[in-house]
Amino acid sequence: MDLSNKVAIVTGSARGIGRAIALKLAEVGADIVVNDIAAAADALESTAAEIRALNRKALAVTADVSSPPDVARLIETAVSSLGRIDILVNNAGVTRDQLIMRMTDEDWDTVLNIDLKSAFLCTRAVLRYMMKQRWGRIISIASVVGIMGNAGQANYASAKAGVIGLTKSIAKEVGSRGITANAIAPGFIETRMTENLDEKQRQALVQRIPLGSIGTPRDVAEAVAFLASEEAKYITGQVLCVDGGMALG
Ligand code: NAP
Repeated sequence: MDLSNKVAIVTGSARGIGRAIALKLAEVGADIVVNDIAAAADALESTAAEIRALNRKALAVTADVSSPPDVARLIETAVSSLGRIDILVNNAGVTRDQLIMRMTDEDWDTVLNIDLKSAFLCTRAVLRYMMKQRWGRIISIASVVGIMGNAGQANYASAKAGVIGLTKSIAKEVGSRGITANAIAPGFIETRMTENLDEKQRQALVQRIPLGSIGTPRDVAEAVAFLASEEAKYITGQVLCVDGGMALG
């Protein structure tokens, strides 16, 4: 895989899966725009510094990707600084878990805005540039929960199922312009998002994974790099589960 001369934007890349994706894409030659919320500015700068240490360009832009003006600024800054956008990775996401009977409107809106609306906003903004250059890769991080559902995660499951519908629709709309759109559905990955589970909950989860272990951010990053590459040019509208077989049920 060689992404030399390509520019990628990875949302929510101060830490976790987004950081691993940004570093992997840089390792295979891309220059990277890293993004996260203002509160994560220091961690975001460290991701950018790690990318520069790989001899790639890195631009750190703090922006809330659920906010239309922030997304407009993020994409404009990326293009004015690095000249183009070839790859968009919609990674930013949060959870606000609660049983449906107790879920507040705010729990619902926060997750739908950050996990789904952000992917719509960023995709719409970058397509302008990708359509002109007749090449592009949109890769959105969904979740096996968007395929299987999960008690206590109605908001998150709905958002991630929405990401899958968005991905398939984009694939049909822009395929003729040389742009592919795919989703990755991670299973249980070791990050801050999953660190609050106690040992008993962890063991119960691992028992549902055919490969018998929790995944790493790097496992997800490897799949993103493939889908971003020239080698994946005939793959679009797909959902790739990176889950140790968890979604097999
Ligand atoms: P994480 O460590 O919490 O990373 C998510 C990043 O997104 C954080 O840096 C977070 O910033 C950032 N973010 C949150 N709201 C944002 C906003 N409005 N604008 C820009 N950035 C924002 O979680 P992760 O596990 O790496 O998750 C990455 C993606 O993978 C998410 O879409 C998640 O749903 C998905 N996923 C994760 C798992 C898993 O097991 N970990 C499984 C399936 C899918 P702050 O931390 O500063 O809030």
